[in-house]
Formats: sequence, structure tokens, C-alpha cells
Amino acid sequence: MSELFSLKGKRVLITGSTRGIGRLLAQGMVEHDAEVIINSTTQDKSQAVADELNAQGFKAYAVAFDVTDTEAVHKSIDYIEQNIGPIDVLINNAGIQRRHPFCEFPEKDFDDIIRVNQKAVFIVSQAVARYMVKRNQGKIINIGSMQSELGRDTITPYAASKGAVKMLTRGMCVELARYNIQVNGIAPGYFATELTKPLVENKEFTEWLCKRTPANRWGDPKELIGAAVFLSSKASDFVNGHLLFVDGGMLAAV
Ligand code: NDP
Repeated sequence: MSELFSLKGKRVLITGSTRGIGRLLAQGMVEHDAEVIINSTTQDKSQAVADELNAQGFKAYAVAFDVTDTEAVHKSIDYIEQNIGPIDVLINNAGIQRRHPFCEFPEKDFDDIIRVNQKAVFIVSQAVARYMVKRNQGKIINIGSMQSELGRDTITPYAASKGAVKMLTRGMCVELARYNIQVNGIAPGYFATELTKPLVENKEFTEWLCKRTPANRWGDPKELIGAAVFLSSKASDFVNGHLLFVDGGMLAAV
């Protein structure tokens, strides 16, 4: 494998990596020689995924914390840095979705979405960046969404939270570039996971999606691995503040 894309010796923390996109990114990272730290809100589930990866001969650790709990985040990042080793790459992947028509959208659901999808990117990135700044090196990848660019029924708070992720990415890039830290985003289109389950189960939605997407299909979460490896590797050392759309061309098609 080209040195340019090798993640040998890199330690990657992926929030929300017990299932869906985060789980597959963890697999992709270890298959490119990185060590991974698996995270979710539950230690048992995180440990089970780390055990699966270790059983495959890779190196994985489990550190559960709720990304919205500032104290737990700081304690966990300190623990990782002091007991496991430096975090070279942070992937802010944990995210939630709630769907309701705008006029009935419960305020609590709005708050939950903003806390997990938006505020937690700030909390976790700040905790990790303080260490990266001291080392004058690091990469942060924020999982946004193509929905930051579209207006669609029933997901207005989600789209707004992902719009904020886009701007957190740009602002962090500008402030952290001087410390040799690259901050980029990946904006997935539609991928079949737990988060999109109601849509996957809706035949009419799949018909609409296929018509609307030049690639004519759902994305497979494995198809996000290439973008994450690129943005974690030396190959992207001068790529900063970018949002990489992985959407089968959906955004390009009007
Ligand atoms: P899933 O629902 O399949 O997985 C979400 C993961 O995040 C789980 O591991 C979950 O574990 C964890 N998680 C949720 N809340 C927290 C929290 N507060 N603290 C720590 N971990 C948490 O989602 P996807 O894999 O589909 O989505 C991953 C990311 O990709 C999200 O940011 C999403 O917005 C984004 N995305 C997804 C798209 C798709 O089509 N699927 C499209 C565009 C963007 P647990 O709940 O057990 O703690």
C-alpha cells in the first residue's frame, strides 16, 4: 500500500462507532493499519466491537462516554491520552435523527439533535484539540450530511445541526491550521443504517431516492471508508476546511 495513505502508527478515536457508519469506519481504519478507540454511550457495546476487531488481529480499545456530557468527555480524553496513547485522528461521527412535521416538532427533540449533532462536535473537538495543539499535529474529521445543503420535510433541526457542523469545520480549520491540525468534514448522502431505518423500510422513499440520485441507489456505509482514510492520512496534509460530499452525485443533480 502507498505510504501516502497508510495509517500505520496512527490512533483514531471514532465517536458513535458501535454500529452503522462509525462501525464501518472503524473497520476501514484498522484495515489501513491504524489503532482505533471505539465509543458509544455504553461500555458493553463499545467493548463488544473492540473485542470483535481484536479477534480479527487488529488493535482496538473501548472507551464509552456520552459526547454531550462535557465532564465525561474531558475525563475520557484525559484517560485515553494518558493510558492508551495520543489521539492522532478524531472522527466526530456520533449523531441522531428525529423526524416530525415542523409545526409539531417537540422542543426536546430539537434540543437533543442540537446537543448531539452540533454541540458535541465542539465539546469533543475542544478536549482533543488541546492535546493536538501541544503536539503541533492532528486531524479532525466531522461527519456532517448532505442535508446541510437541502431543505426537506420533517428534518429541519437535523439539517440545521449539520449546517452548523459545516461552519464548525471551517472555523476550527482557520483557528487550528497554525498548529498543523487539519479539520475537514465528510457529508454523506443516504446510507442504509439504524438512523435511516424508517426510510429504508419505505418503498416509495427508495423509489424517490433512486430517481433523485445519479448513482440510482442507496449508499453502502463501506463507501465512506475511502474518504475517511484519505482525510486521516498524509495524503490530505494540505486539505483543510473542506466538506467532502459522498452522495452518489445527488447534490450535483438539480
Ligand atoms: P446510527 O444510528 O446507526 O449510529 C449512531 C452511533 O452513535 C451509535 O454507535 C450510537 O450508539 C452513537 N451515539 C448516539 N448518541 C451518542 C452520544 N450521545 N454519545 C456517544 N455516542 C452516541 O447512525 P449512522 O451510522 O447512520 O450515522 C452516523 C453519523 O453519520 C451521524 O452523525 C449521522 O448524522 C451521519 N449521517 C448519516 C447518514 C445516513 O444516511 N445514515 C447520512 C448523513 C449523515 P449508542 O446510541 O448506543 O450510544
